Amino acid sequence: MNNETFDKAQFIKDVQDNVKNLYRKTIKEATQQEIFQAVSFTVKDVIIDEWLATQRSFDKQDPKMVYYMSMEFLMGRALGNNLINLKAYKQVKEALEEMGLNLDVIEDQEPDPALGNGGLGRLAACFMESLATLGYAAYGCGIRYRYGMFKQKIKDGFQVEVPDNWLKDGYPFELRRPEHACEVKFGGYVRAEAGENGRTRFIQEGYQSVNAVPYDMPIIGYGNNVVNTLMIWDAEPMNCFELDSFDKGDYHKAVEQENLAKNLVEVLYPNDNHIAGKELRLKQQYFFVSASVQRAVARFKKNHPDIHQLPEKVTFQLNDTHPTVAVAELMRLLLDEEGLEWDEAWEITTKTCAYTNHTIMAEALEKWPIEIFSRLLPRIYQIVEEINRRFILEIEKKYPGNQEKVRKMAIVYDGQVKMAHLAIAAGYSVNGVARLHTEILKNQELKDFYEMFPQKFNNKTNGITQRRFLMHGNPLLADWVSNKIGEDWITNLKHLKKLEIYADDKKAQQEFMQIKYQNKLRLAEYIQKHNGVEVDPRSIFDVQVKRLHEYKRQLLNILHVMYLYNQLKEHPEMEFYPRTFIFGAKAAAGYKNAKLTIKLINSVADVINNDPSINGKIKVVFIEDYRVSIAEWIFAAADVSEQISTASKEASGTGNMKFMLNGALTLGTMDGANVEIVEEVGEENAFIFGMSSDEVIEHEQKRDYNPMDIFNQDQDIRKVLMELINGFYSPNDPELFRDLYNSLLNTQCTQFADTYFILADFRSYAEAQKRVMEAYKDEEGWAKSAILNVANSGKFSSDRTIQEYVDDIWHLDKVTVDMSVVED
Ligand SMILES: *Cc1c(COP(=O)(O)O)cnc(C)c1O
Repeated sequence: MNNETFDKAQFIKDVQDNVKNLYRKTIKEATQQEIFQAVSFTVKDVIIDEWLATQRSFDKQDPKMVYYMSMEFLMGRALGNNLINLKAYKQVKEALEEMGLNLDVIEDQEPDPALGNGGLGRLAACFMESLATLGYAAYGCGIRYRYGMFKQKIKDGFQVEVPDNWLKDGYPFELRRPEHACEVKFGGYVRAEAGENGRTRFIQEGYQSVNAVPYDMPIIGYGNNVVNTLMIWDAEPMNCFELDSFDKGDYHKAVEQENLAKNLVEVLYPNDNHIAGKELRLKQQYFFVSASVQRAVARFKKNHPDIHQLPEKVTFQLNDTHPTVAVAELMRLLLDEEGLEWDEAWEITTKTCAYTNHTIMAEALEKWPIEIFSRLLPRIYQIVEEINRRFILEIEKKYPGNQEKVRKMAIVYDGQVKMAHLAIAAGYSVNGVARLHTEILKNQELKDFYEMFPQKFNNKTNGITQRRFLMHGNPLLADWVSNKIGEDWITNLKHLKKLEIYADDKKAQQEFMQIKYQNKLRLAEYIQKHNGVEVDPRSIFDVQVKRLHEYKRQLLNILHVMYLYNQLKEHPEMEFYPRTFIFGAKAAAGYKNAKLTIKLINSVADVINNDPSINGKIKVVFIEDYRVSIAEWIFAAADVSEQISTASKEASGTGNMKFMLNGALTLGTMDGANVEIVEEVGEENAFIFGMSSDEVIEHEQKRDYNPMDIFNQDQDIRKVLMELINGFYSPNDPELFRDLYNSLLNTQCTQFADTYFILADFRSYAEAQKRVMEAYKDEEGWAKSAILNVANSGKFSSDRTIQEYVDDIWHLDKVTVDMSVVED
């Protein structure tokens, strides 16, 4: 299906038939949800043909493929983007209008498949889309969580978590594939017995197992007939309640196995950049990794007799350390199932696995207690021990007598299995996700490993897909861009550079600002409807949307709002351009300070939004349930992009790129990909402030930062902090925000007061905010900067990122899909 081959009459008939067959209703009688289902099934029929054709092309062309292994895929809604990539969006919209239906309303019926927390999961989703668009063979491997990221409700200003039962109406774009089910074993013990020609065979016994069943979701390339597959695994009981085991008195075991299957994929852990260290999480990891590796090897063996050639056709990319157990699982298959010797198996494994590091934060580094790891995965643990034994020999060979190196680099040490060390020792590539992040890895966090394996380290700056975050999220701007420079940007974002000639063009500036205004109006209406707050679309939309985390410093933002409000109250005549501060963020359910920050934002909003004395000059809005679908609208409407993490803490960020693509100006620290954004667009078109990563790291090492000095010397800051504990924003409970106050000043509550240097950066931030206001007053100057941001965002397409992974790490072959092969 595309704009040439789209048959409107046929489409309308198919939708009518689907409504009739699925629900025994006419279009008039059907609910919007039913119509969404019927439209989606119609679209899926088209996709199936391209999907089949793609599989045939794979079989014929035998390309090398990447298996992108990730605990999270934050897909967002599929219907609209599938239509865009089929090049049928506008036609379908028109056809539906003829039927008296509205595509926007229908799209709004789709649940957001939120099988991820934040940036890491969304990156995986953008990568899958770019892989298909560039014509590379790829499987996404993940978990079909019954409950994805929780839905966030705000009650009385507090976050309340509500389960996200995204499958309750059935998900039209998934396909159950029981023929590819496989067994995954947990627990028990390993028995060694004499095997053929003097080898020992290792057999896992007394285990519990589950049946892993894949569900396929189509990943559609833009206008190229390529449909790749996201393979997410469900767990089912193996053969529960067989009379056999019942009779043997194994009733208990049968119940346990059933419960194991049920619990395994029940829910996504809602922590971002933080490990819970729960046994069930390790079970989830091994579950989807074992199933995916088994599936990949089985698929390879179907057409290739020699397992030694696996690295020529298959590569596993490990998205963070979460799937690192893949290394040992592949070794297990090669040793125990394929009968290879250790050295051959290791050779294959270390040419197949590659690792992406996503964070340097200590609390996010995965370490498993040996007790849990070896009890749950006895055979895998044996293999990890052997990898560790050999790795330590290697370290000792390179650094004779240096036990310090062994202590720091060993995979198993101090009673723990260190997943990052395993990934680096076994992976042929280790990449960071922005230039600064990779440099910090090489020079600080992973220095020892970099010294040992310099050739493994490389950078791949993250990216985002313009098909979702411009074409779908901001159709007005997308059309404007296409009218100015043609459509090449859709598959090659560097073409946006051609917009630069319009940066000084008065008419183009007005058109651009008019589009921004329309998008602000769309968001303002959403806010009116959902928050009951009236915001002025002519005010500056200043936006911070991302997971709530102390290192991302939403607290700095809201403290600054409190400061501005104080200023306005003290100097009612001061110059002030109306500003709407927009927040959106989910906090992990157990993250106290993060949840309290949400309450603070809402309490500040209550006071400020209802103070008539400031004439609506400041509005504060907290958008409930931040997720991909609403994110698309928010980016389109933003003037200012708040990217204010403590320098060195945000590995890359991708929200920053989505804002830039939509013409928002970055207000940020020199952290993550902000550094590269500023490099592309020029510092004069952004607002940079705060300590550098070097300064932060130096203070952390010297431990010489004392926020109390700032508190004592700066009256304005002191006043703001006192408002946290004097009931100014919580008259009924003056102690409510005490923990936030303590986190900034009290060394007894956290190991270091103000761990994230909020007070240290406050003045610099406030001054940068002042520059924002001055710049916005010059409407032409602002429009120019905004257009230049769009024009220079080309680097941040995930198409560019994926091409770099292909060139430097994966070495995949391009596939072409011939639709004529599926006529029969
Ligand atoms: C892009 C995105 C993120 C990541 O945002 P950062 O600002 O990079 O942390 C998180 N959640 C959603 C829904 C996103 O679309």
